[in-house]
Amino acid sequence: MSKFYVVATPIGNMGDITLRALEMLKSVDLILCEDTRETKKILDKYGINTETMSYHAQSKLAKTDKIFELLSGGKNLALVSDAGTPTISDPGAMLVSKIKEKFTTEEVQVVPIPGPSAVITALSASGLPTHEFTFLGFMPHKKGRETLFKEIATAERTFVFYESPHRILKTLESLIKFCPEKKVCIARELTKIYEEFKTGSPAEVLEYLTKNPVKQKGEFTVIIS
Ligand code: SAM
Repeated sequence: MSKFYVVATPIGNMGDITLRALEMLKSVDLILCEDTRETKKILDKYGINTETMSYHAQSKLAKTDKIFELLSGGKNLALVSDAGTPTISDPGAMLVSKIKEKFTTEEVQVVPIPGPSAVITALSASGLPTHEFTFLGFMPHKKGRETLFKEIATAERTFVFYESPHRILKTLESLIKFCPEKKVCIARELTKIYEEFKTGSPAEVLEYLTKNPVKQKGEFTVIIS
């Protein structure tokens, strides 16, 4: 039997990796990485010399065949993304699905090694209701965007999504348009030196970012309730 480990890695702070993740990354035959150079940083920090191979959204079918061949040959593999939990707005979901289609659980066991994910990290310290939430991944730029904002406006539950620094102001403007009364929390640079949570009405948060351009930079997770 082969094992295929889906391993979460840090979303900023290099200390946020579990003992089990390190153990697996050390012991597998090959690590599949979204970007081998990114993964090398964490492997070097923890003295791990396991061989790596790139696997990302543009990877060709031949790569999937190679992965199948390795699993058929009894090799154990790990999948990591550049940051956080693989397959969550990151490559790998299709690969995991194909592995489960092709192999029985006696042949290949897919094993999650849990750890950081920006969505849960942001929610956990946001102070906004967490008992029921919908994760939207990245907001669409065009098609379906308005429908989603309308849904956010009318639903009772909390919504969480990822946003790029280039679009954060535009998104806050949309929130002002569709749901000005809601509370929004932007979680920026989680687990890093400039980690920050800013909560308020969409208009207040937009004003805050507009007055502090330096705070428009970095990685954002948006929570709205
Ligand atoms: N798979 C990852 C996870 O489990 O968190 C998410 C990958 S997705 C391609 C990257 C997006 O997640 C970023 O653009 C940002 O919106 C969010 N994100 C990742 N790291 C973050 C951080 N340290 N602080 C805030 N948001 C973050």
